[in-house]
Amino acid sequence: MVSDPGLVIDLDDAGSTPILQQYRAVKAQHPDALVLARLGDFYEMFGADAQEAAPILGVALTGRGFGAAGRLPMCGVPHHAAPGYIRRLLEAGRRVALWDQVGEVVPGRLVDRAVTRVLSPGTISEADYLDETRVARCAALYCSGGRTGVAAFDPASGELLLTEVAGGLDSVPLREECERLDVAELLIAQDADAAPPTLLPTIPRTVLPPAFFDSSRARERILAVTATQTLDAFGLQEVDRAVCAAGAVLAYCERARLTLTAGFVHVRRRNDSAGMRLDAQTRRNLELVTALGGGVSLAALLDRTRTPMGARLLRARLLEPLTEPLLILARHDAVAELAVAPRLRDTLGEALAAVRDLERLVARCVQGSAGPRDLAAVRQACAALPAIQDILSRAQAGELTTAAARCVAPDDLAARLRELLVDDPPGSARDGGCIRAEADPQLDELVGAGAGARTWIAGLEDGERQRTGIPSLKVGYNRVFGYYIEVPNAHRRAVPDEYVRKQTLVGAERYITTALKERETVVLGARERALARELELLQTLTAGVADHAAVLLDASAAVAILDVHRSLACVAVEENWVRPLVDTSGVIDIDAGRHPLVERALGPGRFVANDCRLDAAERIVVLTGPNMAGKSTFLRQVALLALLAQVGSFVPAERARIGICDRIFTRIGAQDDLSAGLSTFMVEMAETAAILRQATSRSLVILDEIGRGTSTYDGMSIAQAVVEHLHDAPPLNCRTLFATHFHELTVLAERLPRVTNARVDVSEDGDAITFLHRIVPGGADRSYGIHVARLAGVPAGVLVRARQLLAELERERPVAGSGGDVPAQLSLGIAPEHPVVAELAQLDIEGLTPIAALNKLAELRERATP
Ligand code: ADP
Repeated sequence: MVSDPGLVIDLDDAGSTPILQQYRAVKAQHPDALVLARLGDFYEMFGADAQEAAPILGVALTGRGFGAAGRLPMCGVPHHAAPGYIRRLLEAGRRVALWDQVGEVVPGRLVDRAVTRVLSPGTISEADYLDETRVARCAALYCSGGRTGVAAFDPASGELLLTEVAGGLDSVPLREECERLDVAELLIAQDADAAPPTLLPTIPRTVLPPAFFDSSRARERILAVTATQTLDAFGLQEVDRAVCAAGAVLAYCERARLTLTAGFVHVRRRNDSAGMRLDAQTRRNLELVTALGGGVSLAALLDRTRTPMGARLLRARLLEPLTEPLLILARHDAVAELAVAPRLRDTLGEALAAVRDLERLVARCVQGSAGPRDLAAVRQACAALPAIQDILSRAQAGELTTAAARCVAPDDLAARLRELLVDDPPGSARDGGCIRAEADPQLDELVGAGAGARTWIAGLEDGERQRTGIPSLKVGYNRVFGYYIEVPNAHRRAVPDEYVRKQTLVGAERYITTALKERETVVLGARERALARELELLQTLTAGVADHAAVLLDASAAVAILDVHRSLACVAVEENWVRPLVDTSGVIDIDAGRHPLVERALGPGRFVANDCRLDAAERIVVLTGPNMAGKSTFLRQVALLALLAQVGSFVPAERARIGICDRIFTRIGAQDDLSAGLSTFMVEMAETAAILRQATSRSLVILDEIGRGTSTYDGMSIAQAVVEHLHDAPPLNCRTLFATHFHELTVLAERLPRVTNARVDVSEDGDAITFLHRIVPGGADRSYGIHVARLAGVPAGVLVRARQLLAELERERPVAGSGGDVPAQLSLGIAPEHPVVAELAQLDIEGLTPIAALNKLAELRERATP
């Protein structure tokens, strides 16, 4: 290897040693993957692969010289540390082909190599590369005739989800579906329309030839991997496109060398009407799985699960609340039963913890990558499953009893694991010691075969000490020289003639004898055969687990359900939450609700609880109050309570009745989305437009400070027009909480019957104000902006000047107060019937290009300004 900067050449010019020829052939088969070639103790990459990988891996780019031709770039990572490096490549969205040594190493001969695994972000089942708490699915999309089929496969659980949505690759339902599925890699057909960049922008995409999506081959494939005769059982009659997509994802996973067997692969048709769709903003605004600004997310707050499977299910459930009251009630029943039974919760928790990540353990057994400790973990899970059944034998709630009934461990498998595997097996099968003595006669015989020779060797040290009179003579073993006799230099003269010198150390010499070597051959031969037998036995155990994959995976799914119910029961008790009443009333009625995350951040006793009522007569609450008073907190709190109730959780309140929400929309003003290259205001308007278009009378809409992203008058006009539209447009009339610091909007309540005002109370003492965080009826009559500035430490001079300016402005252009005598007219000079408002209300924002929208806005402002 040389590092002098010669001409950098590519693979084709780098001579034709046999290994390079083979390497080129592998590269030709996997042109889109970084090929990691196992050479001795290293995985090496060559040429362009090396240049691409070295910076990602943070390893030195070296090179191998090829005489006058130049230098081929190269980089490598030690084999024993490979998982960490491979993980980095996968996280960078790369595909990795492992070209491994599969034959015996014979000096002077090229060892056999084969691609043993192609890894890509969506085809991972190995624990080394997976996040325990998240699912990483490989999703194929197939679009035709205005609909798109989605097939999402999780290689770490064998679950294959199929669904179809309206629209093409650029449709909103598809984007939302994909966002819900925890997609790690997207597969798209070569001839498909280009998928827009907004569709999972950070997820790597793989383009496949159209043949992967062929309908009849797809059917054959599904039948083959599920070992069934007809697709009818899976309810796939009307989702042809999803079937095509499934064909592609299965073919792709086979090409990645994943083992797909019946029992492991289980097909499930996703019912898209059963769950609530949550858009990306709402997930983010409500901090469902990711906290904003350093706090904890809702998922983290709720997660008292004892198994990774439970944690994954909890996360999935949070992202997909239910809309069917009976299903929700069933979940509440389960949580309620566990909430009143502390001992049951404890014992169940212990038993669940013992199941560990059974789902992924099974997946590893199916893929043949499970180690001895994985098998021991399966054994432990098999013991825990009947214990769970026992613990829940007197449970009442349907959710608990059905799940408990599914906690079945295959008896014969459990027994076999108990009989064969030692109590605490080593991490690797390489050095043996995994199988119990007397468990397998053949193994015992092999171990026994070496016994005589071993005893002879064991007695050698004493015997030779006596015979030679060398008291410090030692018999030892190392991997390179095998058994040896070591004599310190001081006694060199007493060494018998038949000793053959083998190795010289600083203060001693090491010898062998013919008799010792003969015994060594027997011992090592027996050891090798015993190791081979151990491996064989471990493989039958692994295969046994794989054979029972269907039952074990079903038990895993049941364990996850129990784990989630138990986790929610623990939260309910520890955080003092109550069971909500969930119905189809269309009402939201909460006594003393709390925001779980803000309450947690403030610490005990400091959060001020608030009520909320939204019903047929009061559909829209306009909430005013100064900045920092607690408006956003209240809005999010109501949305969170509704969401928690529909997830099947108890809620932080004294009492809550939640009329099912078909969707929860949240729009929180003035967040820049610079990454997408859109202005704050444009984002805000696009999101508002989406809500106005999609909400129904059963939706809950949270609008926080919309209109903040533009000038005051613009903002107020838009805010008002939106409230009017939500109130008046017949299909809408949705429950709406609308927070604004434009106190001028409180006059709307006088004109629109289903709008009420509320404000966040503050106590004033001269210039000083204190936020009480209490929501009370009525509107605020001013913004308190200058008070807030004072609280924030703005210098006194600036405050005095600001107050002057405010007084001047108020003199010049008086604004209406809530109780004033300007009932139907806002201070901004736009009568509700003003043509601009009417036009705004009719505006098809979705149908406008950004430029057209900005032009329109400019024009409206022109006409609106008196
Ligand atoms: P706004 O939306 O009115 O600007 P926020 O809702 O962001 O105000 O609240 C500002 C801060 O006030 C929060 O970070 C929290 O610390 C505190 N706060 C809000 N609501 C409450 C409450 N109900 N009880 C106690 N503190 C609260």
